[in-house]
Amino acid sequence: MHEVAVNPWVAFAYLVAGVCFILALRGLSSPSTSQRGNRLGMIGMAIAVVTTLVTHVPVQTVGLVLDGPAGPIAATGPLFARIDTVAVLEILAAIAIGAAIGITTARRIAMTAMPQLVAAFHSLVGLAAVLVGFAAYLNPQAFGIGQLVVPLIGDPFTVIQPASKVEMGLGVAIGAITFSGSVIAFLKLNGNMGGKPILLPGRHAINLGTLVAILVLVAHFAHTQDGWAFWVLTVLAFAIGFLLIIPIGGADMPVVVSMLNSYSGWAAAAMGFTLGNSAMIITGALVGSSGAILSYIMCRAMNRSFISVIAGGFGAVAGPAGEAAATDRPWKRGSAEDAAFLMSQASQVVIVPGYGMAVAQAQHALREMADKLKEEGVRVKYAIHPVAGRMPGHMNVLLAEANVPYDEVFELEDINADFAQTDVAFVIGANDVTNPAAKTDKTSPIYGMPVLDVEKAGTVLFIKRSMGGVGYAGVDNELFYRDNTMMLLADAKKMVEEIVKALG
Ligand code: NDP
Repeated sequence: MHEVAVNPWVAFAYLVAGVCFILALRGLSSPSTSQRGNRLGMIGMAIAVVTTLVTHVPVQTVGLVLDGPAGPIAATGPLFARIDTVAVLEILAAIAIGAAIGITTARRIAMTAMPQLVAAFHSLVGLAAVLVGFAAYLNPQAFGIGQLVVPLIGDPFTVIQPASKVEMGLGVAIGAITFSGSVIAFLKLNGNMGGKPILLPGRHAINLGTLVAILVLVAHFAHTQDGWAFWVLTVLAFAIGFLLIIPIGGADMPVVVSMLNSYSGWAAAAMGFTLGNSAMIITGALVGSSGAILSYIMCRAMNRSFISVIAGGFGAVAGPAGEAAATDRPWKRGSAEDAAFLMSQASQVVIVPGYGMAVAQAQHALREMADKLKEEGVRVKYAIHPVAGRMPGHMNVLLAEANVPYDEVFELEDINADFAQTDVAFVIGANDVTNPAAKTDKTSPIYGMPVLDVEKAGTVLFIKRSMGGVGYAGVDNELFYRDNTMMLLADAKKMVEEIVKALG
């Protein structure tokens, strides 16, 4: 590595930023400390950005102009430097435009559209890594990674250090994969592209062959500095990002988004080496490793092997389970008053929130309902499935927003045994995460995913808008037709508000 941050204050500032990022990640691991974590992350990023700007103020080298008898003569070679105000203004304008877009998007985005927003942001990180790689390749001396060689015969040329060529090659490749993969993930999550996997014949061989070709080209580029190898590996990396993500079905998209998050971190870390910027290396490594750990945890939550997700093809809507909800089977409909009565008589109610609660923004009304039940002596708990909603932690964030006490919120493995001792399971806008087909139906796209055993409760109440609607995986839920189930068909917020009224 060719670290240029010789100034100990710069190294110290980057270290402080790195510590802030580590503490931010630690804070984000629990809802009660997440706001502090977010603030520390912002402080760390502000320190890193300001330090980078201050230590890389663009300068113009200016030659000394001497007056000779026949007019001015410019002395050869740069003699002094001055701040390049135009470049500084350009940087500030770029920051202002980026910040304006970021702030507007953050304020306007619906919580339910978070996964596609995250995918879109990852694509930008990937693209940034590619562009930095291009800039470093085209102007290596500006990055301090090239040496000008002036041969006796022929034109002068720049030799880039071999280690930098490996970093550049890998950084550009990972960045390009992240970019095109994230664009496909965005299109799928945003509904611009079907969620079904697109399975090309011989895709494993094509993918493997392309990955090997990219590695060979990186090695060739590092050895020879041949420009064609650099450009061809970039094109292949863009293609492999696309090829890797199109075979992945909707149900596995959460894992893919976190995997792309990890890739974007590694791309940034590789570019941190090229730029000699330790803050970027630390941040990239943190994002890369935390994304990889999150992907692993999510794979475990959905009972998928990481390799099979990467290899693609899961999450297809296949077989009988993939058909839309069958509305001709008998089912029981209940009213808000029925639900209020059943729950007020219960000694324990477990609330299972899902995507529909997020769509309806029913969390505040839900907490009000829980408060009323608690006043009547009912024990209330919340059961959170790791992939309920549309992003990891989605339900925790919404419940925290409604000030639901953290000690009433339980993860799947801590609450599943409780359903057998529960009088009422109150499922609000959740479907896939309760679907027993995941345990029994091998043809189901969600087969193997651990689910909340709500059917073990005395009565199961399901709030959804219609019997025809299905969840994310596009499959019907057999629980809707069971004897101990009562369907509450309405918008979740409206139904809960009516229940609150009925509870008096
Ligand atoms: P589902 O998508 O399975 O089900 C949502 C349910 O909410 C449906 O039954 C729907 O029925 C109902 N609903 C929608 N809008 C409303 C509304 N306004 N009022 C009342 N009900 C409503 O959600 P789950 O949370 O159970 O499962 C999450 C799924 O999303 C899993 O398959 C998971 O793999 C996937 N996923 C998870 C991600 C994550 O990281 N958490 C990211 C991406 C996908 P109806 O239309 O009839 O109202």
